Amino acid sequence: MPSEFDLIARYFTRPTRHTTLGVGDDCALISPRPGMELVVSSDMLVADTHFFADTDPRNLGWKTLAVNVSDLAAMGAEPRWATLALALPAPLAADEAWLQAFCDGFFACAEAYGVDVVGGDTTRGPLNLCVTIFGEVPAGQALRRNGARAGDDIWVSGTPGMAALGLAHLQGRVSLVHPESCLDALHKPQPRIALGLALRGLAHGAIDVSDGLLADLGHILAASGLAACLHLPQMPSAALNQGAPAEIALSCLLAGGDDYELLFTAPLGRRDTIQQLEHLCPLHRIGTLTSGSVGEIQLLDANNISVPLAQRGFDHFA
Ligand code: ADP
Ligand code: MG
Repeated sequence: MPSEFDLIARYFTRPTRHTTLGVGDDCALISPRPGMELVVSSDMLVADTHFFADTDPRNLGWKTLAVNVSDLAAMGAEPRWATLALALPAPLAADEAWLQAFCDGFFACAEAYGVDVVGGDTTRGPLNLCVTIFGEVPAGQALRRNGARAGDDIWVSGTPGMAALGLAHLQGRVSLVHPESCLDALHKPQPRIALGLALRGLAHGAIDVSDGLLADLGHILAASGLAACLHLPQMPSAALNQGAPAEIALSCLLAGGDDYELLFTAPLGRRDTIQQLEHLCPLHRIGTLTSGSVGEIQLLDANNISVPLAQRGFDHFA
């Protein structure tokens, strides 16, 4: 059985690119560039709560870091550093293939997004993965949840609902003939860093969709003291076109988590500028912020008829 120090040296110590002092001392040393604010976030992934313990370790490694990178995207921040605290059950600590695959995925994501892994903690225990990520944003320019204004357009990137459909497929709740793109969305989320950076100075409010489109929109509404009106026909329809029963597909689109797309609001006058960001990723303008009762979300169908969200399958994921 390798010691904690063997594991750290063999698997978790990698060259860094913009770090004063990385893994190996009591602390790491990092310096934000002049004029930049540090942007910090932690996310913990617990086996059997956030992922299946038998998940492919390479995918798990990627996703462990990617969900943290996504939080930086939602702030308009650039990823810079991360720490990894992990508890490993004894059988996994001795499983070289598992560790190697986990690190392949984790460090592939670090490489893809320019993250130096500068420290962490390694301990024995039920599988648990906790990343703290550090990014940078020019002082005062972070995208916040509370900056949204009545009359703003509501936008969403990519194809929300696909990851939840992939999960439903794995759980046998739906049976997709071609599940590949949904499983990719579930296992290998691609945080929208480039979009987040482009939205600085453009978007009023932003959040990443980790808990579901309606739930995460709700966080913007609560923080900004607003209501929203969404137009179903304007929503990205990929999740509705995967061959799943309509009711399930719709609840995945509206309430499925794990997509790590960006949901953001921006003034009408910025529509053209935002549309030009479509070279980065698909963008859909799905509704409008209103000054109705705080947190209320109205969903209109093609005939502008309001449909109660419970009837729309929202409760499947409550
Ligand atoms: P300490 O006992 O001082 O907390 P540790 O023995 O836990 O130090 O860790 C030794 C060094 O290895 C530290 O620099 C720590 O940040 C780093 N480290 C420990 N575990 C990990 C890990 N899983 N990934 C990256 N760095 C790690
Ligand atoms: Mg320690």
